[in-house]
Amino acid sequence: MITIDNVTVGYGKAGFITAVDNVSLTINENEILGIAGESGSGKSTLMRAVYGDFSTGLRIKSGTVTGHFTNAHNGQLIEEPSSEFKKLWWDQITYIPQGSMSVLNPLMKVEKQVIDGLPKRERRGSRADLRRRIAEFLAGFGLEENVLDAYPHQLSGGMRQRVLVAIAAFVNPRLILADEPTTALDVVVQKKILLMMVEIQRRLRNTLVLVSHDMGVHYQITDRLVIMYKGKIVESGPTAEIFANPQHDYTKNLIASLPRLHGRRSADVAGELA
Ligand code: ADP
Ligand code: MG
Repeated sequence: MITIDNVTVGYGKAGFITAVDNVSLTINENEILGIAGESGSGKSTLMRAVYGDFSTGLRIKSGTVTGHFTNAHNGQLIEEPSSEFKKLWWDQITYIPQGSMSVLNPLMKVEKQVIDGLPKRERRGSRADLRRRIAEFLAGFGLEENVLDAYPHQLSGGMRQRVLVAIAAFVNPRLILADEPTTALDVVVQKKILLMMVEIQRRLRNTLVLVSHDMGVHYQITDRLVIMYKGKIVESGPTAEIFANPQHDYTKNLIASLPRLHGRRSADVAGELA
């Protein structure tokens, strides 16, 4: 679905500081792909490169990111994408940036923020009709319509994150990039949101790329796992295999540092969702 080919990207106006170093990776249809690695290893930078988010000063040194979308909205990522390209690309991909829980505007009710955040094509029809469609969709994830009338501070952190995740899915993207979506939430809420993300992925049969520094999260829900270290991919493969038989010392350390593998593999998660 996406081919990342020898991508080197980084930051800096005067000099170039490499953050992702010659990374190649294929993102497949209908999978949950995990990106793991310690803080500063380049996970968020890689997501920005895939989405084409240059707002943080990201610069491309070399390499390509190519989309192979079934409806022929193919394209290659370049530093200053044309608006036509952006439209094609961003129609297919929803990106939940790291720390997005805090980006909800505290002074604006959830409904307005949700509607303003939707792509134009989703804003067709009357406001009442749109609200009804959003409320129905939220109900499918156990969220009541009145969350739309709340200000963000009236919702718990977990609720806010559930709203963001549900809205990311509302536009039916082929690919959802979620950067540390559950970090900073307590374990119980984290688990609920992860289950919700698995459910969304199954329902839409799309692809979820889940970035987390927490190996426990990957153990619970990802199908395939990529380990990043200092801007490079040091290991990748089916998640179960990596946990059973890690090859790289860095991966062994990450796994060994887990206090205990609580939670369960996705097969059991499926049972829980049924
Ligand atoms: P991770 O998400 O794995 O914690 P990042 O992609 O955020 O890693 O960071 C990779 C490297 O890029 C780090 O050295 C970090 O300091 C640097 N970096 C990240 N964002 C920026 C930015 N906006 N400007 C400059 N350097 C950045
Ligand atoms: Mg990050």
